[in-house]
Amino acid sequence: MSPEHVQENAEAETHLAGSFAVTVDAPKTSPSENVIAFKFGGSSLMGAGRMVHAAGLVNAAAQEASVIVVVSAMKGVTDRLLAISLALSEGKLSHARNEAEGVVHLHLNVLEDLELDEEKHDRVRRGLQLLGRDLLHEVPSEGRVVATAELADRLASFGERFSARLFAAALEKSGVAAVPVSSSDFVVTCDTFRDAKPQLEETKERGRGVLLPLLGAGLVPVVTGFIGATPDGRITTLGRNSSDFSGAIIAHLVDAEELVIWTDVDGVYTANPHDSVEAKLLHDLSYDEAHALAASGAKVLHPHVLPLAAETEMTIWIRNTFKPHVRGTRIGLPQELNGRRQSGGAA
Ligand code: ADP
Ligand code: ASP
Ligand code: MG
Repeated sequence: MSPEHVQENAEAETHLAGSFAVTVDAPKTSPSENVIAFKFGGSSLMGAGRMVHAAGLVNAAAQEASVIVVVSAMKGVTDRLLAISLALSEGKLSHARNEAEGVVHLHLNVLEDLELDEEKHDRVRRGLQLLGRDLLHEVPSEGRVVATAELADRLASFGERFSARLFAAALEKSGVAAVPVSSSDFVVTCDTFRDAKPQLEETKERGRGVLLPLLGAGLVPVVTGFIGATPDGRITTLGRNSSDFSGAIIAHLVDAEELVIWTDVDGVYTANPHDSVEAKLLHDLSYDEAHALAASGAKVLHPHVLPLAAETEMTIWIRNTFKPHVRGTRIGLPQELNGRRQSGGAA
């Protein structure tokens, strides 16, 4: 994507912030009181119904605290975007173009299903169309495309950028003032495309500048997981499944008390509960125990979350979006050592 397009979308996001601020009642808290970070995975955001359900969890939490949200792409979308990159590298341009058009329509259809009032619908639609135009610009139907890792990251980034806009719209429908934010505006990384490492100091300084004013204005920032940018503005990704890591980074930036990772299982188990009937739900884990499980391949939690959480003594909860009455898994200091509030979110 060209820097101009990045700028254009940033302007669209700023414009959205203004619109949300005037049309929806803001929560009464200020970020200095208590901030909770919620990260929603792709299955929690698959379609309008699930987005509205997840928005209800944010709405409940926002009654008691400032909430910041980090989103993945809708389930399956990153795979489709990377398949487009592969098709481009194989010279299958018209196939790639059809697929890209399909991805744009998928998100426009979710917007229709959200059934927003006309003014809001038109505003969100314009934002999605701008993004769609940028995506299609990357996928020409003829000519020659040099498929690089940099292009793959740029293409993959669209999933989170679409879902952040849609989830902010779902929040607004639920009565929560929200604004989509692209993490590539402040998550500064190296240029190892597909597996970029964030530079935390620079990210913190820039991120606070972007996020704290939004929280202070009573808005819920809906931040894209997964993506960052090099210091000269080229979009990167932090690796597959890394939105959990983005959640921890963003929670850290705003000094959140807790990060709640909302997913499609009741918490961290001894083994993948979809593979093993013997798998047992784990209620409380230390950072080291959780790291060992994540590093051995438990997909429910990205391993990079744990060193950062341990360093900052942040409490992490893994909870089931579809069963918010279930407590989930708590990862943190032993309760008796942790003087901070332990609510597991307000849902
Ligand atoms: P999300 O889209 O919410 O990030 P993921 O698919 O990345 O969700 O992670 C959740 C999945 O992790 C579960 O559906 C489950 O199949 C898998 N998983 C693997 N190992 C474990 C484990 N030890 N405990 C819980 N879930 C696990
Ligand atoms: N959407 C990205 C992926 O599918 C990141 C994530 O979901 O955590 O890998
Ligand atoms: Mg995941």
